[in-house]
Amino acid sequence: MNTKSISIGIDLGTTNSLIACFDEGETKIIPNALGNYLTPSVVSVLDNGEFIVGEAARERLITNPEKTAALFKRSMGTSRKISLNNQFFSSQELSALVLKSLKEDAESYLGMPVTDAVISVPAYFNDHQRRATIEAGHIAGLTVERLISEPTAAALAYGLHTREEELKFLIFDLGGGTFDVSVIDLFDNLLEVRAVSGDNFLGGENFDQLIVQAFLSENCLETGSLSTQEQAHIIKQARNLKMALSVSVSAEMTCRIGDKDYQLRLTQSQFESLCEALLEKLRIPLKQALADAKIRTQDLDELILVGGSTKMPMIRSFAGRIFRKYPLCSINPDEVVVTGAAIAAAMKDRNETLKENIMTDVCPFTLGIETAHRHGRILESDIYFPIIERNTTIPCSKVERFGTLTDNQTDIRCAVYQGESRKASENILIGEMEVHVKGAPAGQEVVDIRFTYDINGILEVEITIVSTNVTTRQVFLSNGNTMTEEEVDDCLKKLAALKIHPRENAVYRHLIEKGERIYQESLGDRRQYISRVLSDFYAVLEKQDLNETERFATKLSKMLDEWDQGGELE
Ligand code: AMP
Repeated sequence: MNTKSISIGIDLGTTNSLIACFDEGETKIIPNALGNYLTPSVVSVLDNGEFIVGEAARERLITNPEKTAALFKRSMGTSRKISLNNQFFSSQELSALVLKSLKEDAESYLGMPVTDAVISVPAYFNDHQRRATIEAGHIAGLTVERLISEPTAAALAYGLHTREEELKFLIFDLGGGTFDVSVIDLFDNLLEVRAVSGDNFLGGENFDQLIVQAFLSENCLETGSLSTQEQAHIIKQARNLKMALSVSVSAEMTCRIGDKDYQLRLTQSQFESLCEALLEKLRIPLKQALADAKIRTQDLDELILVGGSTKMPMIRSFAGRIFRKYPLCSINPDEVVVTGAAIAAAMKDRNETLKENIMTDVCPFTLGIETAHRHGRILESDIYFPIIERNTTIPCSKVERFGTLTDNQTDIRCAVYQGESRKASENILIGEMEVHVKGAPAGQEVVDIRFTYDINGILEVEITIVSTNVTTRQVFLSNGNTMTEEEVDDCLKKLAALKIHPRENAVYRHLIEKGERIYQESLGDRRQYISRVLSDFYAVLEKQDLNETERFATKLSKMLDEWDQGGELE
């Protein structure tokens, strides 16, 4: 066996994972046993009790779903146990199986043992999730001395760390089901994640769905009249058509349904027109991340595209249009993160410094409750209603109002979940509460449900029945860590301060009243300007984001003082 040491980087992804080595100045992505670079992060257990990982396991998601697990990275660092053929596994354990499989692929490719690796994690992973990732490596027989944030890895892959000047850049990561945006500042070997934002329900699958809809309407077909297999077949063909459109200006799909062939032909520009609304949706997290990072579009030095969906030409030109610059996309977007992880491993092995200032003050997952929707006489249940969205700056406190769904409903059950799926039952159930109201016509009795969440994973849920003003409270530990009772008490004391809805806070109330007074005392343009600023302040208060509210309030307070002394408008 070869005894030379080679630096190894791993991209442990939600859907796919990759392993790469850095040797003699270049990064090589290592193929798996099937010769593919992407290994699906899927684990399945066979009838003989053997575990399999990757493509073969992914096939079994359809044939043996109860013996197969996917998307387990989403519960990394939580107490969730995933059932596989009546055995229960943590996310670390399943991730360890993926890591072990990657390690074995690398060992057989390199002809030497692989013992150390740098693994990438999302920028918004908290301490528990990072520790769980290191633990997964440990179970797989790997020493993980360093983790690297995915956006940082992307920056390294494009060599941004070798540039002399200070750089500000944005990572546009559009995958299969999610869109992640990070704004990074790189200065003097220190990479700082300035802001993260995203949309947990926006990714390649939404583009597939638009093609499916176009196919159905072109051929006068309805989903209701198709079998599950036929629907799955159409989705698969739609995805193939989407991918074909990434390399040619027009493409077509054919699906045999019954004994007839149905077709859809699309050009790139027709596809782009179909996707207009989706492209609009991408703008929201982009704006949010830039606003949070306090960086203007024109101040960005670079734009990096990551994730399979950025292979679509329309996404590249969309990103280029918004930021008025050519995005960096010369590296295959599937391979950017693993390339950076391997470079980070080489830097570590050479003892080169690379400091990362990570974000530990964002909520790494969405917290919400199960709700139902009424469509006429049909009640659709199992719908997840997010209250605190993933990536929200923490600590935070948010309140939402809900009404009864049926006439004379007296019990209101509040099932609290953590996760990103639209269906409540596909998320992690953290706990349940129930309150009782008096019987009344549907929708008349309402409750305010407040979630207050802090950096230690303490979630306090309060339900207030609006008609009686009675409040019921319960505390949940959302990240499965164990804390002593005193620690929990300490955290709760800190949380108490947060629960003041910004609207109810005396300081903000005073600013509003002062603003209203100055408005009354003013005339003309000044009056209109004050009115606009006050409306903006109301909008910020409505968002219930304490940090943003505080920032706005400080600015407003200064403005009001100046106006009060007869100062000029900005
Ligand atoms: P990721 O989560 O980064 O692996 O991205 C997976 C998503 O990228 C899926 O929705 C794929 O359909 C999409 N994707 C992969 N390759 C292409 C391609 N060549 N053109 C368009 N979308 C693609």
